Amino acid sequence: MRQTNIFDFLIESFTDNISNIEDTRKQRTNLVYSLKDIILSAFSVFYFQNKSCLSFQRDIDTRKGISNAQTMFGISDIPSDNHIRNMLDKITPNSFKKVYEIILDKLRDIGILDKFYFKDDYMLVALDGTHYHSSKNISCKCCQSKTNSDTGEVHYYHSVITPTIVHPDIKKVIPLMQEFISNNDGKDKQDCEVNASKRWLDSFNNPTNKKLIILGDDLYSREPMIKKVLDKSHSYIFVAKPTSHKYLYEQIEMIKNLNTIDTKIISKMINGKKQIFTYKSHLQISK
Ligand SMILES: [Zn+2]
Repeated sequence: MRQTNIFDFLIESFTDNISNIEDTRKQRTNLVYSLKDIILSAFSVFYFQNKSCLSFQRDIDTRKGISNAQTMFGISDIPSDNHIRNMLDKITPNSFKKVYEIILDKLRDIGILDKFYFKDDYMLVALDGTHYHSSKNISCKCCQSKTNSDTGEVHYYHSVITPTIVHPDIKKVIPLMQEFISNNDGKDKQDCEVNASKRWLDSFNNPTNKKLIILGDDLYSREPMIKKVLDKSHSYIFVAKPTSHKYLYEQIEMIKNLNTIDTKIISKMINGKKQIFTYKSHLQISK
């Protein structure tokens, strides 16, 4: 396998993985576009971060007979945007999990992951959710929904957890396989960000011997999530807002006044502002 750089390796790994994805089209012979062309065309749009990229490439292809889509991604024929969308809808995102694992192994093998190790023994993984579909009109059976209590209007959306390896001194991040927040048929209770994060913790294959420190916002600093993180032998740094963690902050106020021996208070000037950090172990997150 020729591997001149990490990009070539990425495309080769991607292409190898596509051969394991089932082509659900009924007619298997004389297909105009291969699954490989369809998936790599979609990937190229995201790689260039430009939705017009394929029409631009088709145009170059017509005029010059060869385009970046062919030379960079190995695409033989560029399908139409609609055809790509229709075909991708039938492919489960988990079909691409293996590619993330292969790339992470590669980043470890060539020493890039080393730079992301935190305090030698840890890796910081930030969990966060984001919407990628939002509509009051278009919905499907897997949509999450929110009903406006005043107007009764229903808002449909799809969201996903996007775990990333981060490091405070590095501006780049390493994205890991996402976990989709999706309602299954027949379930009354909606799926949520925390449940999806728990599934992600179960499915992540750590290719290193580093322990994970899971980072998350206020949504995560609840007992079930913390228990899950600790069950997996990871550590965590979660935001806990005073409005949602009243009991925790009552204890913090108390220890500030008591000035107990095992409490550490550090004042630092950060960006011209005085910041006070209070460290204290074994506080209760809730009653
Ligand atoms: Zn939907």
